[in-house]
Amino acid sequence: FDDRKNSFGPNIEIESEWTPFKASVDAFMGQETQWTAYPIVGGEQLNTSSIHDVNSPYDHSLSVGNVHWADKEIVDQAIDIADKAYPEWSQTPASDRAACLERMAELMEENYPELVAICHREAGKTIQDSIDEVREAVDFCNYYAQQVRQNFSGPITYKNYLGEEQKVQLTGRGVFACISPWNFPLAIFTGQVVAALAAGNTVVCKAAEQTSLIAYRAVQMLHEAGIPKNVLHFLPGNGATIGSPMTQNKRIAGLAFTGSTGTAQLINRTLAARGVAPVPVIAETGGQNAMLIDSTSLPEQVVRDAVRSAFASAGQRCSALRVLFVQEDIADRVIPMIAGAMKEQSVGLPYLHSTDVGPVIDAKAQKMLLEHIEVMKKEGKLIGQSELPEWAEKGTFVAPTAFEISSIDQLKDEKFGPIMHVVRYKAKDLDKIIDTINNSGFGLTMGVHSRNETTCARIAQRARVGNLYINRDQVGAVVGVQPFGGQGLSGTGPKAGGPHYLPRFAFEQRV
Ligand code: GLU
Repeated sequence: FDDRKNSFGPNIEIESEWTPFKASVDAFMGQETQWTAYPIVGGEQLNTSSIHDVNSPYDHSLSVGNVHWADKEIVDQAIDIADKAYPEWSQTPASDRAACLERMAELMEENYPELVAICHREAGKTIQDSIDEVREAVDFCNYYAQQVRQNFSGPITYKNYLGEEQKVQLTGRGVFACISPWNFPLAIFTGQVVAALAAGNTVVCKAAEQTSLIAYRAVQMLHEAGIPKNVLHFLPGNGATIGSPMTQNKRIAGLAFTGSTGTAQLINRTLAARGVAPVPVIAETGGQNAMLIDSTSLPEQVVRDAVRSAFASAGQRCSALRVLFVQEDIADRVIPMIAGAMKEQSVGLPYLHSTDVGPVIDAKAQKMLLEHIEVMKKEGKLIGQSELPEWAEKGTFVAPTAFEISSIDQLKDEKFGPIMHVVRYKAKDLDKIIDTINNSGFGLTMGVHSRNETTCARIAQRARVGNLYINRDQVGAVVGVQPFGGQGLSGTGPKAGGPHYLPRFAFEQRV
């Protein structure tokens, strides 16, 4: 049975070992299964006249449902209710807020087949990525619940030698705006929202316009988990209709954003132009992530980890590998292995377990990536390209592609998709190479492959990145274990899934 050659469509019959799981996900998988998302304001679902169809990235003829977009009036109304709800919510005991997060984690576990189904249908994620997505969202809830119990339950007392003391209580700031991306439509959306809520803020949230359906389900579940309806409001739409009125509103007391560096800069300008007190912006933005491999590394391991880092999730992770630096002594061994590995990758339907790489999110992303591939064909040397299935034009697929180029400086900006660039370097130039990577201004992830501990330590010390991974792949940071976030053009910090995240959503109230 070869799905990639013969079949297409969500009702495909698969004889496979994943039957119980498949059966539960399949309940939501048929052509007829549709979802609708509405703005949720004060617990009311609002029918609006601005209705937008959602089609699946892997088959544009497959309707997933539709989304009622909010407008400025609805945004202002939501912020108004959230503002009024703030005093009571901020006084709710930290343990009660934590309990809502823990209940949310349970609800996501109970509803995971539906969440997996929406995630792969709406965002085009593979089954494995969709499962990982639910897992990460659950982890965020449980981790932030534990953090809020630990640090927000009572004041911290500071004393001096005269016996004077000061007590400080971490408290919510007011109405927090959360703006999340499509590449982790459940995990990052949930992570931002529950962090803001746990810290004692009320929340207005906007999901990326490509992935409002799963975010809407998450908000419904958060209400079911006990978050009061006047505390959390959902505002679907695009940047112009929702992002602008949100960031222009004088009552927004803080904002969490994951997306492009340019949008983060625009958010900062818009918030500042309000002429009110400055507020915190927690931004996690792009990267130009490198992996450095030296001649002591094990090529088989390098190739496996580099290919996963560059192409898993169709390269649509902020953490994904964009530029692989190979020490020239092993380049002629490693590069053909990369070409071979790329032939083995299967690009296909995201709901089949045999698929390694699914589609990219939409036609705009596809166009940008295909244009970059054309430019690289002229400016670089093609190493390898995975094969696209015959029916690929039904969706927005981009064949994973690797090019050899001469310098990272050939890349002007981040290309968010399955394209890897390979640069050879000489051992004596290692420091210079790290400096060029630092000079890109981005500083999110870096991978290192070397069996020389001194080299690893030297790179770790010199590289200005948020997350550095040694002798492994560089994607898939684990909540509570690998706090995730960058520096410079890659974001403001604090790191998501780490102990310093929640306090940034709070202020220190003297009590
Ligand atoms: N935390 C994810 C990872 O480690 C990346 C998050 C993102 O793409 O924004 O792969």
